[in-house]
Amino acid sequence: MAYEQRTWTLFNARFIGFLRMGEREKAKKILKILNKIYPTTPIPLKHRNRFTLLTSVLLSAQCTDLNVNNVTKNIYPTYYRPEHFVQLGRKKIEKLIKSIGIFRVKAKSIYFMSKQLLEKHGGKVPKSFEELEKLPGVGHKTASVVMSQGFGIPAFAVDTHIHRLAQRWGLTNGKNVIQTEKDLKRLFPKKAWSKLHLQIIYYGREFCKARDCYGLTCKICMTCYPNRTNPIKIKKV
Ligand code: SF4
Repeated sequence: MAYEQRTWTLFNARFIGFLRMGEREKAKKILKILNKIYPTTPIPLKHRNRFTLLTSVLLSAQCTDLNVNNVTKNIYPTYYRPEHFVQLGRKKIEKLIKSIGIFRVKAKSIYFMSKQLLEKHGGKVPKSFEELEKLPGVGHKTASVVMSQGFGIPAFAVDTHIHRLAQRWGLTNGKNVIQTEKDLKRLFPKKAWSKLHLQIIYYGREFCKARDCYGLTCKICMTCYPNRTNPIKIKKV
């Protein structure tokens, strides 16, 4: 390799290394700020066992946790096991959850998910991503929440809100939630993942909402981007 080319390659490697270091430094600062603001992270979705946690996460798609909790507080005292929902049947489940968005689709998922849990898992929620993701209505995000909040296994559930904040904080290049999950897992220590998922959600709800801010207002952006003067653009998911 010619001398100039080697020097240029070396410079590039160092420059990329420097950028990565910057990203990690940012992640460290963000973690410190979030730990200070949210030292404890209670689970927002009310539940009484792993099955009701799974059901509530499924119900929370395109719906607020508050709305889900308002509905499930009248359901879970009586119905809290897969067999209860199989006995109820789809139509009755629909009636119980009808104030929640896309309730017919969700009732169908809850019914078939309950059936599958009884037929294949003895009525228990499986403790693996693979098995969870085979359940009707359960995607990677739902499985991640159940793994971390239900089983205490480190996972980083990334939804559109976390994706938005990670973009705003410059922790990901903003392609999609899959890429964001990879980037966040690379930048933060594994033991922090589960708590961080909730801390970012809390921060998003309290300070960093979908609209109205373009990176010039509060503590995290001011710390990570002290020289920023222009509004940032957010890429859509
Ligand atoms: S300054 Fe805006 S974009 Fe940055 S963390 Fe605060 S609310 Fe979010």
